[in-house]
Amino acid sequence: FKVPTPVNEPVKTYVPGSPERIELQNTLRAFKSQQADIPMYIGDQEVRTENKKPLSPPHEHRHVLGYFHEGDAGHVRQAIAAALAARQRWASMPWQSRAAIFLKAADLLAGPYRARLNAATMLGQSKNVYQAEIDSACELIDFLRFNAAFMTEIYAQQPKSSPGVWNRLEHRPLEGFIFALTPFNFTAIAGNLPAAPALMGNVVVWKPAYTQIYSAQLIMQLFKEAGLPDGVINLIYVDGPVAGDVIFKHPDFAGIHFTGSTAVFQQIWKTIGENIQTYKGYPRIVGETGGKDFIVAHPSANAKALAVAISRGAFEYQGQKCSAASRAYIPANLWDDVKQFITEDLQSFKMGSTEDFGNFINAVIDEKSFDKLAKYIDAAKNDPDVEIIAGGTYDKSEGYFIQPTVLKVKDPRYVTMCEELFGPVFTVYVYQPNQFEEILEIVDTTSPYGLTGSIFSQDRYAIDLATQKLLHAAGNFYINDKPTGAVVGQQPFGGSRASGTNDKAGSVFNLIRWTSTRTIKETF
Ligand code: NAD
Repeated sequence: FKVPTPVNEPVKTYVPGSPERIELQNTLRAFKSQQADIPMYIGDQEVRTENKKPLSPPHEHRHVLGYFHEGDAGHVRQAIAAALAARQRWASMPWQSRAAIFLKAADLLAGPYRARLNAATMLGQSKNVYQAEIDSACELIDFLRFNAAFMTEIYAQQPKSSPGVWNRLEHRPLEGFIFALTPFNFTAIAGNLPAAPALMGNVVVWKPAYTQIYSAQLIMQLFKEAGLPDGVINLIYVDGPVAGDVIFKHPDFAGIHFTGSTAVFQQIWKTIGENIQTYKGYPRIVGETGGKDFIVAHPSANAKALAVAISRGAFEYQGQKCSAASRAYIPANLWDDVKQFITEDLQSFKMGSTEDFGNFINAVIDEKSFDKLAKYIDAAKNDPDVEIIAGGTYDKSEGYFIQPTVLKVKDPRYVTMCEELFGPVFTVYVYQPNQFEEILEIVDTTSPYGLTGSIFSQDRYAIDLATQKLLHAAGNFYINDKPTGAVVGQQPFGGSRASGTNDKAGSVFNLIRWTSTRTIKETF
């Protein structure tokens, strides 16, 4: 039960003149100069429809990158049929062959696909080169390689036997198909959500967010080139509720691998509950959802480290990471230093297109998100109890640009301290140093989420207190580091409370959800 021991894919730096930078720039130019025609992939078919919809870079919304073919309920049914038709052969394929396909996909992505998938993520989702590299290259490669190793750990788990009796476990795929419903903000997550169940022998219907289709179709091509048989993963572009209406009423629905917002996941869970008697079994429900990720500083914290964690943790990829820091609790003794550093740092952030590698900040994903963020900023500007420390402007004439914004509030339960905004708007509450314990209580009870959070402190008692008091406030808890940037195989990722089922992406805990184990006892 062994595959090659995985190591994390090294991050390329794209320094000027480097071969990877030249290749990426050429790929960006090539993608910009063509208009891609993007079919759905169902069974052995590339499916085109009459309903073609444009895709544009969020930072240049008048440019058209290509058109995708939108499907309807009929295509969902076709995708399910194709998955079920592929099921038996795929499930009985030796696990080594399944692993080989995804390991080959990782190698292809580390090589010839790297520039293409990075370019697609940069243009389609407005991620800068470094954020694209750690997502669509390194993290997806890591998911593919580490999952193969985690799979073998599961298969190696065998019970005790005795003379005359042989007990064994058979880790079967689930009985039916898996629905992978994926978000816009991580290309790696979009790729992993269908790949992880497929690796374990399941067949999948995959519906990405429309704003991620430009990179999703390349992942599909990557899997196919690596040898994935037709029908094992079927990629459809269908409106979420339309797809859900077919899938959640289907008797062969065996599980959902979801990442996205809490509201959508809760709705889906209810729908599955309402249809529970339709299914052959209890579907596996695995979902990673929203967050309201915090940084809490103790008076002993190092102000510079804290400030760096805020400006990076809150504003990388425009704050559109589920793990992005979005609220901080800072003791008054540190505030002046932290404020000075953050405001200087933010002034150095250039904002614009991802094609200029010097831009740290790019656009938010779409107009809906832009408008929502602009509303929060306007409300803050009009509230006498809120101070705008940095940013506060926005412009959607060319692309959906929101300047990184820091708000300071008088009320630790002000709306932007509680709700997930999913953008570059960060809120600070400054507390009196003797209120530290009280503040931990506020951190814990201010939002319904439990995804990521950080404590900054040089005082071990304070670190231990925060670690205990915030037991369920973060599934990924960081001590003296920003709450983002989990690495596959190093920090298994996932939250509890309203942040998800906490099945830890990039770990054995996630993969085990995609098997249904049979115990066999044989007597001689
Ligand atoms: P979203 O919930 O809007 O969409 C997720 C997917 O669900 C998309 O494919 C979408 O088309 C589909 N969908 C939307 N409404 C649906 C419905 N009624 N029925 C069926 N499908 C439907 O999320 P998003 O905007 O793409 O992603 C951002 C969200 O994802 C944030 O809340 C973020 O915190 C969360 N997220 C969480 C993690 C994590 O690991 N916890 C990671 C990344 C993103």
